[in-house]
Amino acid sequence: MRTAAGPGRVADPVGVRVPDRHLGDLREGVVSTVNGEPGAERVRHHLDGLREREIRIIRCAACGRAQFPPRSACPSCHAPGPFAWERASGQATIWSFCVFHKAYLPPPAPQPPYTVAVVELAEGPRLVTNIVDADPHTLRIGDALEPVFGPGGAPEVRFRPRRADR
Ligand SMILES: [Zn+2]
Repeated sequence: MRTAAGPGRVADPVGVRVPDRHLGDLREGVVSTVNGEPGAERVRHHLDGLREREIRIIRCAACGRAQFPPRSACPSCHAPGPFAWERASGQATIWSFCVFHKAYLPPPAPQPPYTVAVVELAEGPRLVTNIVDADPHTLRIGDALEPVFGPGGAPEVRFRPRRADR
């Protein structure tokens, strides 16, 4: 039931709760601090790595698990750190994938048929990405991949089948 805004009421008749923190805050660097390292600085180092054509992962000192992209706590043992940065080898395999035959976004988003895949880095982390430079129908789980970094230094990474002649 709709009611008029009045004393003690919010103007929003459906009572939508507004989060204390917005996604835009993250872009401004208003994020939590872990072990004295601002989260924004960690994200920046991660993105700078992609711009420099490196996959930078962090490894948990407590349990040894690597993660990509960096989070504020270890997804395995939940330790808040410390973490050590490493440069991943770039070697990866297809952990899972599906082929999309419908375009949900205009270019430059991938156009059908395109592949959305879970790719497993040799160091262990898995990420959701696209597999490019391949006929999607020839791909198989476990296929070896190599990274394809974003054009013009864009901080993104996709993967393509690894070939000996490249
Ligand atoms: Zn851990």
